[in-house]
Amino acid sequence: MSDVILVTGGNRGIGHAIALRLRAAGHRVVVGSRSGSAPDGLDAVPLDVSLPSSIDAAFERIEDAFGPVHGLVANAGITRDTLLMRMTDEDLDEVLATNLAGSIRLARRSLRGMIKARRGRIVFISSVVGLMGSAGQVNYAAAKAGLVGAARSLAREVGSRGITVNVVAPGFVETDMTAGLPDDRKAEILCAVPLGRYAQPAEVAAVVEFLVGDGAAYVTGAVLPVDGGLGMGH
Ligand code: NDP
Repeated sequence: MSDVILVTGGNRGIGHAIALRLRAAGHRVVVGSRSGSAPDGLDAVPLDVSLPSSIDAAFERIEDAFGPVHGLVANAGITRDTLLMRMTDEDLDEVLATNLAGSIRLARRSLRGMIKARRGRIVFISSVVGLMGSAGQVNYAAAKAGLVGAARSLAREVGSRGITVNVVAPGFVETDMTAGLPDDRKAEILCAVPLGRYAQPAEVAAVVEFLVGDGAAYVTGAVLPVDGGLGMGH
């Protein structure tokens, strides 16, 4: 049986594209979603990444039903954009709990099966803004930058066990998350993208497929931009 890969937030957007792409590549994909379901016949378990008890319960369900998890794509994420002067504690706590602490807890729990198997693949979905900064996104950028430090530290901890830990840093991707941005902000971002267009979720998924595949066996602690050149130099 092929390895189980857990994709969080795989019910829509980038996570959904990742789940479909990995399944098409022959991986055994399980989506973790708050509703416990996912479209296109993808297997799914209930998972709220901001709740430690939900993470434990989801792993137990997956291990019982599908076997040990040897791949984790920590994709689930939220924004609560506003200038720091106006940011509430809730805006800050929710974004850090979901995007940063949730991803770290997922990685910690996934290590159990990976260390036993002496192999594993962990991919954190960060963002170009984690490295560039973005006005109105202090909470989100801090969480996304935190994933880089977390991945690189963990890569050092578990490299000798055959486990790789990498980060994908997308730029502007056309999903529900970006659909609500004002048109002038979208135009401003587009001007700064050398490729002159936004990304499609499938273009992020292609890079994740590479990182979880055999071809990336010697890639760890890396930050792979999928941003059309927006964050060049970082
Ligand atoms: P969407 O808003 O389209 O989808 C977000 C996904 O995350 C949904 O499946 C959502 O589930 C899930 N999610 C949110 N909170 C939780 C939670 N507490 N527990 C479980 N699942 C949760 O976002 P994108 O697809 O655009 O983004 C995916 C990732 O890519 C995020 O980490 C985002 O920060 C990152 N990213 C996105 C960029 C973009 O331009 N779109 C750019 C750079 C990075 P539900 O359906 O239940 O809400």
